[in-house]
Amino acid sequence: MEKKYGFAYTKTHVNFVSYYKNGAWDEGQLVNDDTLTLSKMSTSLHYGQEAFEGMKAYRRPDGDVQLFRPYENAKRFKMTCERIMMPAIEEEAFVRAVIKTVRANIDFVPPYDSRATLYIRPYMIGIGHNLGLKPSNEYLFGIVCVPVGTYFGPASKPVDVIVSDVDRAAPNGTGHVKVGGNYAASLMVQSRAKQMGYADALFLDPISHTKIEEVGAANFFAITKDGTYLTPMSPSILKSITNMSLMTIAEHVLHMPISRDDILIDHLDHLEEAGACGTAAIITPIASITHHGKKHVFPAHETIGKTTKKLYELLTGIQFGDVPDFDHWTLKIIE
Ligand SMILES: *Cc1c(COP(=O)(O)O)cnc(C)c1O
Repeated sequence: MEKKYGFAYTKTHVNFVSYYKNGAWDEGQLVNDDTLTLSKMSTSLHYGQEAFEGMKAYRRPDGDVQLFRPYENAKRFKMTCERIMMPAIEEEAFVRAVIKTVRANIDFVPPYDSRATLYIRPYMIGIGHNLGLKPSNEYLFGIVCVPVGTYFGPASKPVDVIVSDVDRAAPNGTGHVKVGGNYAASLMVQSRAKQMGYADALFLDPISHTKIEEVGAANFFAITKDGTYLTPMSPSILKSITNMSLMTIAEHVLHMPISRDDILIDHLDHLEEAGACGTAAIITPIASITHHGKKHVFPAHETIGKTTKKLYELLTGIQFGDVPDFDHWTLKIIE
């Protein structure tokens, strides 16, 4: 019987935990317990001192397992931790811990044919007894992994999104890093969007509310009518590794012009295709954007647009190992 993969939590054999105390990280270890006992005065609980990453392990056609650009996640995790005054994990140590965790859970990596993956969630939290608003002295760095399907459902089906009337992140705030607080702030609009039948909320820039920033917890990109890969640039956008990879693929494989420029919410007529991209979302085509009661429908709204489809096939092809690797993007897990 074919197993169905969704985006729900299932427990795997082990998860990684490492503790920081007296100014140093311990070796870290794999544990079976997926619960935690911690001080009720932990800074993560009261002040949101929490950071996370999202990455995946892919089963190749030859049965081996590989990671996609793990050093990029390591770099971003370090930057996120530093932004909220948490002790950094060196990039090598981060990747080593990810490999160790995946290797110990290797039978949870879904088969190649399922196109499902093992989602990997590294995180760091401030722990210990604290009261005042200051960085904690103690931290936990952990890695949990979960077999998953796609986040938004089949990639061929474009989704409808609605513009949010609240902001996700402040200018000069923490929008560019993966800290937990950003996502608590977006829960309300996301659930309202879903109640109204939309797949997610679309965020505009927090200063002028005229330019597209992100789609829920994914980056926004579009293919213009003249064939340019267009994605917005702003300090409150999270720098998606998926988006960065798509730009490289578009430029160097599909030989498309790339543009990082403002996308005005009231001027969408020059766009042929639109999509959301990220590790969880992969590439999800966007059929329409609703703003102030007006629905803009993209020409490629019934099924995935032809350029988005090519990008999807190249990206997932590299991730799963069907398409030759691009400049050492993938890292095999040797069992
Ligand atoms: C994680 C995340 C993304 C996607 O980043 P990837 O590195 O591609 O997974 C995009 N936007 C937000 C807000 C995110 O948290």
